[in-house]
Amino acid sequence: MTKPSLFRGSAMLRLCCLILLLSLAIVAQVPTPKSVLGFHPTDDRTIADWTQIRDYFGKLDAASPRVRVQEFGKTTLGRPMIVAFISSEENIRELGRYRDINRKLADPRTIVPNGIIDEESLYLREGKTIVSISCSIHSNEIVASQMSMNLAYEMATKTDAETAEILKNTILLLIPSSNPDGIDIVANWYRKTLGTKSEGTVPPELYHHYAGHDNNRDWFMLNLKETQAITKLYWQEWFPQFVFDVHQMGQFGPRFVIPPFHDPPNPRIPPSIVREVGLVGYKMAADLEAAGIRGVATNTTFDMWWHGGFRTAPYYHNSIGILSEAASADLMTPVTITKERLKETRPVRGLRSPLEPAINHPNPWEGGLWRPRDIAEIEMIASRSLLKLAAKHREHYLKNFLELNRATLKPLPDEPQAYVMTAGQPNTETIARFLQILMWQGIEVHQMTRELWFKHDKAVDEYHEMPLGSFIVFVNQPKKQNVLSLFERQTYPDRIGADGTPDTPYDVAGWTLPLQMGIESDVVWDTQDLEKFRDTLKPVTNINQARAVMNLRPAREAFAKVPNPLKNPARIGLYKGWAGSMDEGWTRLVLDTHQIKYDSVGDPAMRTGDLSKYDVILLPSISENGILRGLSADRYPEEFTGGMGAEGIANLKRWVENGGRLVCFDASCGTVIKEYGLPIKNILAGVNRREFYNPGSIVKLEVDLRHPLAKNTLEETPAYFTNSSAFEVTSESVAPVGRIRTVAYYANRDALMSGWMLGEKMINAKPALLEAAYGKGSVVLFAFRPQHRGQTWATFPFIFNTLER
Ligand SMILES: [Zn+2]
Repeated sequence: MTKPSLFRGSAMLRLCCLILLLSLAIVAQVPTPKSVLGFHPTDDRTIADWTQIRDYFGKLDAASPRVRVQEFGKTTLGRPMIVAFISSEENIRELGRYRDINRKLADPRTIVPNGIIDEESLYLREGKTIVSISCSIHSNEIVASQMSMNLAYEMATKTDAETAEILKNTILLLIPSSNPDGIDIVANWYRKTLGTKSEGTVPPELYHHYAGHDNNRDWFMLNLKETQAITKLYWQEWFPQFVFDVHQMGQFGPRFVIPPFHDPPNPRIPPSIVREVGLVGYKMAADLEAAGIRGVATNTTFDMWWHGGFRTAPYYHNSIGILSEAASADLMTPVTITKERLKETRPVRGLRSPLEPAINHPNPWEGGLWRPRDIAEIEMIASRSLLKLAAKHREHYLKNFLELNRATLKPLPDEPQAYVMTAGQPNTETIARFLQILMWQGIEVHQMTRELWFKHDKAVDEYHEMPLGSFIVFVNQPKKQNVLSLFERQTYPDRIGADGTPDTPYDVAGWTLPLQMGIESDVVWDTQDLEKFRDTLKPVTNINQARAVMNLRPAREAFAKVPNPLKNPARIGLYKGWAGSMDEGWTRLVLDTHQIKYDSVGDPAMRTGDLSKYDVILLPSISENGILRGLSADRYPEEFTGGMGAEGIANLKRWVENGGRLVCFDASCGTVIKEYGLPIKNILAGVNRREFYNPGSIVKLEVDLRHPLAKNTLEETPAYFTNSSAFEVTSESVAPVGRIRTVAYYANRDALMSGWMLGEKMINAKPALLEAAYGKGSVVLFAFRPQHRGQTWATFPFIFNTLER
């Protein structure tokens, strides 16, 4: 097309000028981030805190008809969480309509077939691809939260044809941060330390109140306010076809890691989703190469096995989850990375060296200055690649989404039909929480309003009665993949290298939720006329309906606190060092959820404080280095350094000798065993991975129910093992060590219940929970983590029992 043909006569020219002026006027009114903040976001050594980010998005909302900002929840510490909807002016005006269309595509049962109007065609023709981009859930991976303002400004103001197509065909749900509390924790620390030796270090506290970095390990458990709010936004309201979670990693690998991911894929993820994820990654990679960006790697490090991450949970909702990991600077301070340093980087899955060209990494970055703006530029290009794809193939993505959801409704012969939580189990509060977790993710639950007969064993032709008051979850529902993935026992594939070394999964190998929570759930393979009765069973529409069935008091909020289980509570101290421990945070979450009172005891109080005000002190799973040395004085102000040190260990020992009960979780046991001279050893310490390996699985404990610490547990209790320990009592006890009693053992056979474990024989029948008398007090040693990520309700009673006077 040539220019003159566009300008026929002066009237047309005047019209064009008018349109141009109008659009310039719109652009002129939209504030740049710099005009609001006083600096350009992602410039070196600048940082915007949550108030500033919200302020900018608020101004954008006021100025741009393409942007609407909505508060959709509150954080753990009470800050507002916001999402910016970004689309064309016309789409923004009708957001509710597009949300409703997409909700129909998410549940094909709601689309009327063969009606007067062809609903399906209408929705596919008119619907928009819903894309969500979420920034900086990990708050020290700070750049994306700053970049989000630049991305929003660009989408609000650009007038080129490509942007117009994106705006017309997609609705972007941009979440500037999914952990706003952490943005402020990091921003405050960064500003305070700017120009000091601590500039660019991570703050000396968890950047999520309870979970720290583990805030991205909560996506099926929903312990945290933030995961609850985003889960509601995604899987109750908007059902995004794409979820893009923007992260950063260490400094010395490739510059940017994107999909396709590494093996193994989880068999419950639809294969077409695996392919679509890969396609997005390759599109991003191709666009980045075209822009001259070096150091982009695919097919490395991150796998598609685990469920509970920001970008992995969407797979079980038939959504395309994308993760990107950019190499980090020192928060917002540039760093210089030498080629020599890159040479020392150790191989990771799928990548031998950041300097070696490979098919999945054809253009290595060879070192140099690395700035926040480099990270932001890459993230902006990648975001745009995703939006371009989503816009260009709008109908393809909507149709695929609909068809995947439709496929979930068809029963398959090799899959169970349902799972039943039988009435009469004692732990009703736990069951209520479990049902709430399922329902919040959009899983349908039914109440057994009539007795039915089920076949539990696929191979055995025997029917069992399922009583009134039970709850049933049908497999064939739009959330089918999620139902299967949460209820089934995981079997991680035996991935072992040529030298016998197991290939480390990115996260844990097994997570089966009813096992972790100690809930009996029966699998239903067949029932007489189940489908016929399905419509006669009552759907559970809110948690108080389920609570009423179990004679529990109504709860005021969805994830309400649980009644305090302690009859005679001890005075409790919980160790909290400056080197933030996620295990400590999760312990606090469990205690707070159960309304158990405790004090956090810091390093100074451990060293010299009067501990006699406590009956029990909990030592979360922390390495010897974390306990004895803590943060290093090289980078941190002295007040935060040194851990509790030898002084703290000695103070604690005197307190135990005088009658205190010290409770140690997993990694902290070793320090106490050594420093107190207990005749106990961890038989897994120093053992080669080829001999024993368990990167996160559910294992069976055999419990001595006669022991007071075993109250309210099951004879066979599932427990969480993640690179944990197994004990052996090595010799006769010598004073002040008294009698050592085993409360629970790892099962003597078939200990693996869900996940992956090599060399199981090493831990069979070995003590997993011990109590050793020590002076007038005692030491309780958990070889595992009884509160792992706040998920393991099955083993919470062991903790509670240690907290009784
Ligand atoms: Zn991260």
